[in-house]
Amino acid sequence: MNAPEVSRRLPDATHVRLRPEILATPPYRQGKPAAADAFKLSSNENPFPPLPGVIDAIVAASDVNRYPDAAATALRQRLAAEHGVDENEIHVGAGSVALLSQFIQAAAGPGDEVLYSWRSFEAYPGLVTVAGATSVQVPNTPDGEHDLDAMAAAITDRTRVLIVCTPNNPTGTTVSADDFDAFMARVPESVLVLLDEAYVEFVRDDAAVNGLDVVGRYANLVILRTFSKAYGLAGLRVGWAIGPVRLLDAARASAIPLSVTGTAQAAAIASLDSADELLERVEQLVVRREHVVSALRAQGWSVPDTQANFVWLPTGDQTDAAAAALAEHGIVSRPFAGSGIRISIGEPESVDKLLAATDGIVKTLPSGHGARTIG
Ligand SMILES: *Cc1c(COP(=O)(O)O)cnc(C)c1O
Repeated sequence: MNAPEVSRRLPDATHVRLRPEILATPPYRQGKPAAADAFKLSSNENPFPPLPGVIDAIVAASDVNRYPDAAATALRQRLAAEHGVDENEIHVGAGSVALLSQFIQAAAGPGDEVLYSWRSFEAYPGLVTVAGATSVQVPNTPDGEHDLDAMAAAITDRTRVLIVCTPNNPTGTTVSADDFDAFMARVPESVLVLLDEAYVEFVRDDAAVNGLDVVGRYANLVILRTFSKAYGLAGLRVGWAIGPVRLLDAARASAIPLSVTGTAQAAAIASLDSADELLERVEQLVVRREHVVSALRAQGWSVPDTQANFVWLPTGDQTDAAAAALAEHGIVSRPFAGSGIRISIGEPESVDKLLAATDGIVKTLPSGHGARTIG
């Protein structure tokens, strides 16, 4: 749709005093919409359409003249039963981004530090800024992994929240269970640790940490999961947290009430009813991922070991040119200028297009720009 014609001008509002750190933060911009014949591999969405049973549940949740159940009781009871915890040890939010925001707001304000690996999920810096707190970013290892030693060493008496993202968006690398335990032993009990596991269903490395195994072990740990990726409900916004009641209550107190719609709650429950079928789709995406990773490596790309539904091309200062070349081949990717490109595992038909494009790009890259020297 074309933008509507502007028939009057609103004032510039230059005199309204806004928080300087907010003014310095660019508003969220979504990846470009894909052209009709292009593949949108920029947001780690699930390429499968919703299951019929999920659509039925969405249609059946038709009493939209009423507010939803603010406590998401049925969904929380369902998740609690599946994981053997009390329903108050489950908290549901409008996507796990909303949960991240709530926990950060609950624990960190002006003068406080929120520590995370970088590069990681692009939402973290903005959420910390909005809370009035300060981001402390610890660089990833050259392999795109969290540097847990450096993260532990960066903890100060101002650290209030520590985020561990595994698999890490955008590099796809995981934290091992052993490394996680060793790390937690170095984190003071007073620091809230958020384990962001948005892609955990795609993990096939047995050594990787799984939040459900460790959540009972640490009183300062909350794990965050989402229906957006593996379960294909990105458009309905449902995420959930599991952790100690006192911490979840603090998030609930920081939440905007009623933001998880009844439609979203119903779709999430229907998705759990169809978990076997949905996880079979995840398996297909994992097989596709492994194919893409080996093909990229055979082309000469140096790709981190991804356990998520995306791959990372470390294109460095060639990133913009490489993303433009991908776009010419009908692949919409997520470039991070000066760093690299994240590409989601999408439709089967996208794979050949993608690999044809990357084969051309890798040959044009100076060495050290994502191209491994072969031989
Ligand atoms: C996609 C993503 C999320 C959450 O997405 P929601 O749609 O808000 O649930 C959280 N963390 C990471 C690292 C992600 O990539």
